[in-house]
Amino acid sequence: MKAIVVRQFGGPEVLEVEEVAVPKPGPGQVLVRVEAAGVNPVETYVRSGTYAGLPALPYTPGSDAGGVVEVVGEGVKKVKPGDRVYTAGSVSGTYAQKAVCQEDQVFALPAHVSFAQGAAIGIPYATAYRALVQRGQAMPGEVVLIHGASGAVGLAALQMAKALGIEVIGTAGSEEGLKLVREQGASRVLDHNDPEHFSQSLKLTAGRGVDVILEMLANVNLGRDLTVLAPFGRVIVVGSRGNVELTPRELMSRDADVRGIRLTNATAKERLAIHAALVAGLENRSLQPIVAQQLPLSEAPRAHREVIESRAHGKIVLLPG
Ligand code: NAP
Repeated sequence: MKAIVVRQFGGPEVLEVEEVAVPKPGPGQVLVRVEAAGVNPVETYVRSGTYAGLPALPYTPGSDAGGVVEVVGEGVKKVKPGDRVYTAGSVSGTYAQKAVCQEDQVFALPAHVSFAQGAAIGIPYATAYRALVQRGQAMPGEVVLIHGASGAVGLAALQMAKALGIEVIGTAGSEEGLKLVREQGASRVLDHNDPEHFSQSLKLTAGRGVDVILEMLANVNLGRDLTVLAPFGRVIVVGSRGNVELTPRELMSRDADVRGIRLTNATAKERLAIHAALVAGLENRSLQPIVAQQLPLSEAPRAHREVIESRAHGKIVLLPG
């Protein structure tokens, strides 16, 4: 089968297609035929060798996929060959035609959700749920500022907030992104490249501020985020690519919280809750992943460049063919 194999950490060009043996599922594992694999920013950090906790070389990247169960290992009860699934984690890596996953890394993919959409669920939707609900404790009737609503996590959070009766102010950095965020139901959209967007978000809440901020680029925004929080507001730091300066007094005056999240810190029980909510949301169609680009596996280097450099308007997925 074809798979991306990384033999040394480095730039996107280290993502090379190779012919490799089909991996075999052990006890409690399943083999999934990957129809589409999701590309996440974290896979670029790992590939570059700068991330904390690197895999042993060589490795095949990827944890998210939409596909079909082909083989189940001994003792597997949750799924059977032929089942449509999305994956959230993989033992062998999903940038490949087939991938081995633990039984608890695969979840039912409803028939009306495409495989490409299935590849957009794992990390982005689980992160959005953990940020909005488990760590943000956003409540119906509150206002959430999704700072970076045009990307994979932001759009997922927007759909969840809408389903929960939470009002969303969403930001994006391009016309296409702003249009998509508006179409997805944000009550107001703002351009995060416009320095005035902070004061505009205050105006939109009649000076009260927002209850929760989901922050995709904390190193740029965290300091000013604190100035647009309502009393008892929470900033959930989802993404950051550097350091930032902030004024602690802004936190004190509001009894405000800054909470970090790392998806992999979720406990087994929290993970179960996350995916139960996601499967229900997919089934009742309140969650509808948005795929921006589908590229062949051989274009993995381009996918890695674009997930970091291009303006977002949904998810980039790879088709192993
Ligand atoms: P993505 O699809 O590439 O989206 C990136 C988002 O960031 C886009 O909406 C982009 O908007 C926005 N952005 C760019 N400049 C911004 C600015 N100045 N202020 C606010 N937002 C800005 O990536 P993703 O998959 O959604 O992930 C988002 C971030 O969360 C990444 O940094 C990722 O590494 C991180 N993440 C963390 C966890 C965790 O466990 N903590 C899990 C998943 C992802 P435009 O392109 O429209 O400008």
